[in-house]
Amino acid sequence: MSYLLELDRVSINFGGLQAVDEVSMRIEEGKIRALIGPNGAGKSTVFNLVTGIYKPTAGRILYQGQSIVGLGPHAITALGIARTFQNIRLFGRLTVLDNVKIGCHCRSRGGMWGAILRWPGVKREEAEITARALEALEIMELVDKRDEYARSLSYGEQRRLEIARALATRPRLLLLDEPAAGMNPQEKQVLMQMIRRIQDMGITIFLVEHDMKFVMSLSDRITVLDYGRRIAAGTPEEIQSDPAVIAAYLGQEVSYG
Ligand code: ADP
Ligand code: MG
Repeated sequence: MSYLLELDRVSINFGGLQAVDEVSMRIEEGKIRALIGPNGAGKSTVFNLVTGIYKPTAGRILYQGQSIVGLGPHAITALGIARTFQNIRLFGRLTVLDNVKIGCHCRSRGGMWGAILRWPGVKREEAEITARALEALEIMELVDKRDEYARSLSYGEQRRLEIARALATRPRLLLLDEPAAGMNPQEKQVLMQMIRRIQDMGITIFLVEHDMKFVMSLSDRITVLDYGRRIAAGTPEEIQSDPAVIAAYLGQEVSYG
């Protein structure tokens, strides 16, 4: 059996802090995998390791069976791994469409300057990028808002716009860091449907999220971290009744809404 993403005893420490401590997991293609755990457990750090922002101090990270350790973020995006960040990272004074196109220009031959200065030969690539951006906006149901400023969107729409930007790179693996954070129940419901739609397109999803109802209803499998260590892994049913997981969350507010 081959896996799309495999972490094998991956560790990283910052000064004296072991932020991720020998974490292993294997993600099957086409599935939704959640990574949960209390604040500071190391979830975002795992995403930063997979996307080349940090290099592990030990362990292996394999994508499609090949090591990606040592590759930078752009090389990793080019291999088909895209992500969103825990905090919104949009250009409020740019349009919705331009915010999505920026995600593609980092990878294009002409680069962002080529797109701005409109060098000849960049034009065809520009048309291709626009097409991809519109396709991503379509999936996230934001096409009608393409000419609006990003800052004029509702909070839920802004978070969806970030996912559209990641989708425009045409990923095979999509990492979502707390995509539902700050959303109201209705916005969460809409987002859940869109994530299912993305899965139906054949894209594998790796999800960090605090909302337990959201995680439990979407995920095929869940990995649980606490203080950088993997304390449990299994199906949503297995995780909900795991004593180690319940103990890790004691004293923390768990949202089931
Ligand atoms: P989570 O996303 O699970 O809430 P993080 O992965 O953001 O947790 O952080 C895990 C731990 O690593 C925290 O204690 C955090 O302060 C620490 N950490 C994360 N990134 C850095 C960094 N660049 N330098 C120092 N400490 C960091
Ligand atoms: Mg985090």
